[in-house]
Amino acid sequence: MMDLHAELALLRDLGYTHLDLQSARQQAAVIQGGSELPHSEETLDDLGRIALACTKCKLAGTRTQVVYGVGNPNADLMFIGEAPGRDEDLQGEPFVGRAGQLLTDIIKAMKLTRDDVYITNVVKCRPPDNRNPDPDELESCRPYIRRQVELIKPRVIVTLGKFALQSLLERSYSIMATRGQWLEYEGIKLMPTLHPAYLLRTPAAKKDVWQDMKKVMAELGIQF
Ligand code: URA
Repeated sequence: MMDLHAELALLRDLGYTHLDLQSARQQAAVIQGGSELPHSEETLDDLGRIALACTKCKLAGTRTQVVYGVGNPNADLMFIGEAPGRDEDLQGEPFVGRAGQLLTDIIKAMKLTRDDVYITNVVKCRPPDNRNPDPDELESCRPYIRRQVELIKPRVIVTLGKFALQSLLERSYSIMATRGQWLEYEGIKLMPTLHPAYLLRTPAAKKDVWQDMKKVMAELGIQF
């Protein structure tokens, strides 16, 4: 288990400036209630336990549950989307609805499985009615995705759609102008591509995403 000093430092890094006693107790209950208490100081699971009790923004009041992330904690490849939708909010797992099925197909076409990669979103809670995330929600959640990337240390990040790209890089890129071109995030190669939900509406754009994924495969040494 993390000691108090380490945990407070983590909460500070995640952007908490105040802790009221009730939420501190909730955090502690969640962390201590975990079935497998981590022995290392700070792991993806530690961070997950904190995220699952997060009340930093107004989405905490409307979500069913926090959708933290899924997959291989040592993945070479990390997919980052926007925010959970209805299916994800109900199931607690990212990309399990229709757009998620398409993402799963893309991953399979890359000769990988969902268990090989890590999948998450820049916003961990569902915005009501699937509206776009508000700027304050993106900002409150940004420390989680930054820390997830730090802990997973993937070789390649693929951002899906404009919100993932803009929120991670904190820059207002045009997704259409930027997709398919290598960028960098904290020394990690980042490939921006289109969101699978966009591909459901615009199937002709699937070939563009496949071009982008072939660049990712080449970078990871996967034959195609
Ligand atoms: N869209 C996203 O961006 N993320 C999900 O998890 C599901 C749909």
